[in-house]
Amino acid sequence: MLTDKNNGSSITADIQFLDASYHLHPFTNTGALNKKGARVITKGEGVYIWDSEGNKILDAMAGLWCVNMGYGRQELTDAATQQMTELPFYNTFFQTTHAPVAELAKEIASVTPGDLNHIFFANSGSEAIDTIIRMVRQYWAIKGKPYKSILISRENAYHGSTVGGTSLGGMSGMHKQGAPLLPNIERIRQPYWYGEAGDMSEEEFGIACAAALEEKILAVGPDNVAAFVGEPIQGAGGVIVPPANYWSEIQKICTKYDVLLAADEVICGFGRTGSWFGSETLGITPDIMSMAKGLSSGYLPIAAVAVGNRIANAFIEHDDDFNHGFTYSGHPVSAAVAIANIKLMKQENIVEYVANDIGPYLQKKLRDMLTDHPLVGHIEGVGLIAGIALVKNKETKELFPSDLDVGLICRDHCFDNGLIMRAVGSRMVLSPPLVISHAEVDELCEKARLCFDLTLKSVS
Ligand code: PLP
Repeated sequence: MLTDKNNGSSITADIQFLDASYHLHPFTNTGALNKKGARVITKGEGVYIWDSEGNKILDAMAGLWCVNMGYGRQELTDAATQQMTELPFYNTFFQTTHAPVAELAKEIASVTPGDLNHIFFANSGSEAIDTIIRMVRQYWAIKGKPYKSILISRENAYHGSTVGGTSLGGMSGMHKQGAPLLPNIERIRQPYWYGEAGDMSEEEFGIACAAALEEKILAVGPDNVAAFVGEPIQGAGGVIVPPANYWSEIQKICTKYDVLLAADEVICGFGRTGSWFGSETLGITPDIMSMAKGLSSGYLPIAAVAVGNRIANAFIEHDDDFNHGFTYSGHPVSAAVAIANIKLMKQENIVEYVANDIGPYLQKKLRDMLTDHPLVGHIEGVGLIAGIALVKNKETKELFPSDLDVGLICRDHCFDNGLIMRAVGSRMVLSPPLVISHAEVDELCEKARLCFDLTLKSVS
C-alpha cells in the first residue's frame, strides 16, 4: 500500500515500482517503459490533468478521445453513486431489464440520426465492432443470404483490438501480431488526400478512393459482401478527413450493390465533429453505427451499436435468439452515467458550442498559429478533432526517416511542457474535451507552437 509521504517524487517512485513490477501496458513496449517509469496521473479537472510531480497538463486528447464533458463532473459521479446504491448490477440476458438500460436506449435514440433507434449494448468500442461484424452477417443469414459475409474496411483503419477489431482494422503493426486474422475481411485504400493523392485534386481523389470500393465489391462478388465499415473521420489513423465528395460516393456504391453501410462512431460520436455523430457532419446515412468513448465521457466503460428499422425488424421478426452479448451489456451503473452525460450535453448545448463556436475557433487558431511553422506540412480537422502532418520539407512533403520518430519527439516535448497531444507516426493529433474554453484553446495552440519549435531543434 502506498503512503503519502508529502513527497511527489517518492510517491512517483513507489507507483512506478508497482507498475513496473506488476502491470503490462496496452500498446506499449513494457520493458522499455519499465526502465524509465510511467508518468503517474493523479487527478483531473476540466481540461486539465495533474501528475504525481504536481505538473498541470492541458489534456488535448480528452484522455483517449473520450472525456468529452471534461474531468471532475459531479453530475456523472452522482449518477454512478446513486445507481451503485440502488442496483449495482443486473443482466439483460434472461428476459429481464432495468430502468437505466431502457432509458439509455431511449436517450441514445433521441440523438442518433435517421431511424437508428434500436440499441444493442457492449462495454468497449472493440466489442461494439465485434457486434457489428456478427450482426451484419446474421442479418444477411436471416434474409436468406448467408454467403453475403465479407466486410470491407480500409487500410490504416483502427476498429479496436479484439480479434474482430484487429482483423477489420487496417493497422499493419497489429496484423503482424497474434495472427491469423479472421477470414472474409477485405480492405481498400484510405482517403488520405495530403499523403497519398499525388497530383490529384481532392475531388478526383475522393472519386478514386470511393471507386476502390466498387472495384473491390466487383472483385469479390456483390452477393458476397455484407457491409462496408469506416469511421467518418479516421481518428487513430492520424485524423484523416476524407475529401468532401468521398462519403456520398461510398453511399451510392453501397446502395447500388445492396451492401450495408456501417459507421464506426467510437471517436466521432457525441459531438466531436460538431454534430451528435460524425455521420451527420460528413453526410453519411449509415445502416448501423458503433459508439463508445464519448457516450459516458469515458467515466465508465460502455458502448453501443445502433441500427435502423431495416436491421432491427429483421432480428425482431426472426423467431430465434441472437446468440451474442456480454455480461455487462447495458451495465446499470455505466448506463446511468451515460444518461447523465447525454443530459448534461443537452443542457449545456455542447454540440452547438462545438459546431458554431469553439470548433471553428480551434480550427482557425491552429492554422493561424502553426501553418507557417517549418515542420508543419498540413493541418486538417473538423470541430474539435485535428491532425497535423509533420514534414522535413514543406514543399516536397518529404517525411523524416521513420526511425527518427519525429512524432514521439514532439509528443514528449508536449508532455514536458504541459500539453498532451498524441503522435500517430509523423502526425500529431488532438481531440480536446468539448468543454474547452477560448482561453484554453489559446493556451493549447501556444504550447503546441513552442513544442514544435523544440521538436525542430531536436531534429535539426
Ligand atoms: N473504433 C474506433 C474508431 C476507435 O477509435 C476505437 C478506439 O480507439 C475502437 C473502435 C475500439 O474501442 P475500445 O478501445 O473501447 O475497444
